[in-house]
Amino acid sequence: MRLFTAEALILDVFDLHDRDRIVTFLTREQGKKKGVAQGARTKHSRFGGQLQPLSKVQVTWFEKEGRDLGRLSSVELVRPAHRLQEDLEGILTGSYLADHILEFAQEGEESELLYRLLDSTIEALLEGVDRDLAARYFEAWVLRLSGIFPSPQACPNCGQPFSGGAILPPGGDTLLCLDCGGSLGNRMGAETVAFLRRMGKENLPTLALAAPGLAVLRQVEELCCRVRRQFLQRELRSYEVIQKTRLG
Ligand SMILES: [Zn+2]
Repeated sequence: MRLFTAEALILDVFDLHDRDRIVTFLTREQGKKKGVAQGARTKHSRFGGQLQPLSKVQVTWFEKEGRDLGRLSSVELVRPAHRLQEDLEGILTGSYLADHILEFAQEGEESELLYRLLDSTIEALLEGVDRDLAARYFEAWVLRLSGIFPSPQACPNCGQPFSGGAILPPGGDTLLCLDCGGSLGNRMGAETVAFLRRMGKENLPTLALAAPGLAVLRQVEELCCRVRRQFLQRELRSYEVIQKTRLG
């Protein structure tokens, strides 16, 4: 049995039987981890209110060789995420971020970049950055770090730099220039392409100083969802809930 300790971001907490909880968390050095918090559902549990999704914690856990489920020994709160638990939109935004990491982070593998992305996005959200902008920035960067985000620079078909916009062809997951893209695809405006480029070099607080309009954010969302769906071959559950909430 080995003992580990690390700073972590809590991704998911669910009940196991009537006493325990299972906690999934992200660490820098060991990626995604899962452990049982024994007695976490009981009164006076030492885990108390520490097990909140998206809070930053210092966690200590035991691992037995050959088992992927560890056992949590202690959890100390470093940064709570109350602001994301206070209203439905905040909760949905939070679970959308966590869902991405649950899908894209690997278990037991170094995940420094994903950790930094999630940590800085939560930090910005807690400071009050626009949630729509934060979600677009985050989803685009998860895809970029996974190596599947389309280039916003030039058409992969003919090499021509994008000017005046780009086309996302039907069923495709990459951007083409206006000449190669045909007339059936979704047109991403010049402003959207410019914003995709900005996202590659500016951090979230800087982007927020000159945030794009809603039309641009919707096009970025559409592009990211398409790329993500093609890759995962299904939709994220939290995204389905977000869409239903929007319709309702
Ligand atoms: Zn082209």
